[in-house]
Amino acid sequence: IRGVDHVRDPRLNKGMAFTLEERQALGIHGLIPPRFKTQEEQVKLCKENVERYHEDLNKYIYLVGLQDRNERLFYRLLSENVEQMMPLVYTPTVGLACQKFGLIYRRPRGLFITIHDKGHIYEILKNWPEPDVRAIVVTDGERILGLGDLGAYGMGIPVGKLALYTALAGIKPHQCLPIMLDVGTNTQSLLEDPYYIGLKHERVQGAEYDEFLDEFMQAVVRRYGQNTLIQFEDFANRNAFSLLAKYRNKYCTFNDDIQGTAAVALAGLSASLRITKTKMMDNKFLFLGAGEAATGIATLIVRAMVHDGISEAEAASRIWLSDARGLLCKSRTDIPEQKRIFIKDVPHMTDFHEMVKLVKPTAILGASACAGAFTKEIINTMAELNERPVIFALSNPTSKAECTAEQAYTYTDGRAIFASGSPFPNFTYKGHTFVPGQGNNAYIFPGVALGVIAAGIHHISDDVFLLAAKTLAQLVMEEDLELGRLYPPQADILRVSLIIAKVIAEEAYKNGTASAYPEPVDKLEFMKEQLYQPDYFSALTSRYDWPAYK
Ligand code: NAP
Ligand code: MN
Repeated sequence: IRGVDHVRDPRLNKGMAFTLEERQALGIHGLIPPRFKTQEEQVKLCKENVERYHEDLNKYIYLVGLQDRNERLFYRLLSENVEQMMPLVYTPTVGLACQKFGLIYRRPRGLFITIHDKGHIYEILKNWPEPDVRAIVVTDGERILGLGDLGAYGMGIPVGKLALYTALAGIKPHQCLPIMLDVGTNTQSLLEDPYYIGLKHERVQGAEYDEFLDEFMQAVVRRYGQNTLIQFEDFANRNAFSLLAKYRNKYCTFNDDIQGTAAVALAGLSASLRITKTKMMDNKFLFLGAGEAATGIATLIVRAMVHDGISEAEAASRIWLSDARGLLCKSRTDIPEQKRIFIKDVPHMTDFHEMVKLVKPTAILGASACAGAFTKEIINTMAELNERPVIFALSNPTSKAECTAEQAYTYTDGRAIFASGSPFPNFTYKGHTFVPGQGNNAYIFPGVALGVIAAGIHHISDDVFLLAAKTLAQLVMEEDLELGRLYPPQADILRVSLIIAKVIAEEAYKNGTASAYPEPVDKLEFMKEQLYQPDYFSALTSRYDWPAYK
C-alpha cells in the first residue's frame, strides 16, 4: 500500500493522530494539518459533532460517515457511549435510515446479492475483499423492524447489527459481513420511489426463493468455512421459521428475531420474578402478536419451565398467544405447527381487553407492531389483577410500541414492571424516577456470537439461548431493579457479552459441541484476548537490530 492509503483507508486512517515520525515515514507529511491529536481528543470532537445535529437521521449520517473515514475512532466512540450512540446506530434511528436509505445513501457497505445472481453467488462472495469472515448478518428486507417490507433499503439492519457485534462484543470489523439478499419488494411506494436502490419488481417466492437461499448458504460455507456464523435478521414470518427449521442443524446459524428476542425477553421476565417474588411457573403470560418474536419468547419460556421441572404441556398451558385474527383457540384451523402447543380450549375472541379479563395474566407482552394496542383500559385491568403487573411493549421502532413507558407507569399508579423494545426516556411519577428497561437484543446476540465463534460451535441449540438468558438475568443487580430496569446498564454490555460468551464456551466444551482446540483453560481470558481494540496502533513496522555480521 502507498502512504496516502493510510489517510484514505478507514481501517488505517488515524487523522491528526498520526505522529510526526509516522507522517514522515509514510510519506503523508503535509497531507494532514500540523496539529497532533490523541484519540481521546478526537472522540470528544466527534461527540460534539453528533450533538450539533438536531435530527437523529443527521446524527446517523454523521456516524456512517465517520465509520467510512476512521473505523477505530467510530468504534471507540460507539463502545464508550453505548447509551447515547446505540439508538442512533440501531433502533429506533436505523428504522428511519432504512426508510430513507436511497436518499441518504453515500457509499456501499456490505454485499448486495440479487435473485438474478442465482447460480453465481459464490463468485459474488469472492468479490468481498476480506478473506477471514467469521460472522454474517443477512436480511431479505421483508420485515424490517415493525416497518414492513423495505426491500433493499433493509441493508441498514445488517450494517447496524454488525456494528454492534464489534462495539459490544469486540468481534473484529474485517470478520463481519453484512449481506442483503434482494429478491424484490412488494411495497408499491418503493417500486415507485425514484431513489430506490434495489430490484424494482415483486418479490420472487416459492421454489426459486428457496433454491436461492440454499445456494447462498452453501456458497458461504464454500467461501468461508462451516464455522461461519450466519445470523438471519428481519425476514418475514413464514420464511423466518421455515429457514430456521431447515438450516439450524446443518449450518452455524440463528434467527435473532425469534431466538435473540426470546432470550432477551426471558432474561427480563426472570429478573421480574425477583420483584414479584414468584417462580416462572407461577405466572401466566398473554401475548399480543404470535409472530417471530412472540412465538420465540413463548417457546423459550416453555423450555425454561421444563428445566424447572414441569411438563411441556403444563408449561404451555400458562402461555396464551393472540394474533391479528384473535386468540389461538381450538376452533381455529389456521395455526401452524410451531404454535399448536399454545392453543387453548376456549371460545374464539378478538378483543385483547376481553382476553385479559378471561386469562387474568400476570404479564402481557406486545410483539405485534401495533402502536398503542395496550390501551388505558387494558393497563388499568392489569393493575387491578396484579400488585405488580408485568408489561412488555416490545414492538420497534418506538412509533410501533404497544404503549409508552409513561402510560405503563401512570395507568398502574407506578406499579408496572415495564420493558420495551426501543428506548424510552426516564419518567418521574409521584416523585419516583423510573429508568425503563430496554429489552434490546443487543444484550444477547453479540455475546452469543462471540461465544459461538470463539469456541467454534457448529450449530446453535435453543439451550445456548436459554443459557444466555439465565446469564443475563443474573447480571441484573438490585440497583437496576430499584430503578425499574430489568436489565444491566447499556454501558456494561461489553462486559455482559464477555460473560455470556464465557458461559456458552464452558458449556460447549463440557457437552462436546466446541470445536476450537486446544481447549482454553481460562475461558474468560480467552474471550478477552480475542477482543477488537479500537485504540490506534503504530503505523510503522517495528524494527530491531542484529549483532554485527561476521
Ligand atoms: P411478525 O412475525 O410479523 O409477527 C407480528 C405478529 O403480530 C403476527 O402474529 C401478527 O398476526 C400480529 N399482529 C399484527 N397485527 C395485529 C393486531 N392488530 N392484533 C394482534 N396481533 C397483530 O413480526 P415479529 O418478528 O414478531 O416482530 C413483531 C414486532 O416485535 C416488531 O415491531 C419488531 O420490531 C418487534 N421486535 C422486538 C424485539 C425486541 O424488543 N427486542 C425483537 C424482535 C422484534 P398475524 O400472524 O395474524 O399476521
Ligand atoms: Mn430484527
